[in-house]
Amino acid sequence: PTSVASDYDFIFKIVVIGDSSVGKSNLLLRFTRNEFRLDTQSTIGVEFANKQVIVDGKRIKTQVWDTAGQERFKTVIPQFYRGSEGALVVFDLTKWDTFEHVSTWVEEVYRHTPADLPIVLVGNKSDLIEQRRVSREQATALAEQLNLSYMETSALDATNVEAAFILLVSSIYEKRK
Ligand code: GDP
Ligand code: MG
Repeated sequence: PTSVASDYDFIFKIVVIGDSSVGKSNLLLRFTRNEFRLDTQSTIGVEFANKQVIVDGKRIKTQVWDTAGQERFKTVIPQFYRGSEGALVVFDLTKWDTFEHVSTWVEEVYRHTPADLPIVLVGNKSDLIEQRRVSREQATALAEQLNLSYMETSALDATNVEAAFILLVSSIYEKRK
């Protein structure tokens, strides 16, 4: 019999944003394909990738958008944000300036999306313990000030990558259900 039933219950567009080289493309790769690459420098042409997760027993298809390197120009085209329901704002735990730019990226997200859009702040490269320049306390304080959730991830060793996306998806789902 033909079926018109879809293979998911919800579909959420998610954007991943933040400074160049913080690991956005690798977070996307790790989450959607369980892969990691040392040289992703704008070579990844994918605009987005899909991944299904189960939250609260519901099949949620995530469509995760990558900037494909536009962030080097400190801004991305408005179409990137259009229709998105959640964002990961990523900084590099080993690069203080990427942390300093977080509030600018958060402002940019809110300029293009509804004001109550769920955002998870992500401190990436937690595997580089010796090179860490941003403490958990500093990041947590900023997240609290901006009213965001906070997670520390490593796209390299996969720590918390799925957890960060699931946290975001759960926040979106709580608003939508
Ligand atoms: P993007 O410019 O934000 O998309 O960053 P990329 O995903 O292209 O990563 C930039 C560089 O950082 C690459 O050399 C990656 O291999 C590296 N990288 C990304 N995530 C991690 C991580 O969690 N740990 C470590 N050690 N390196 C990472
Ligand atoms: Mg990239």
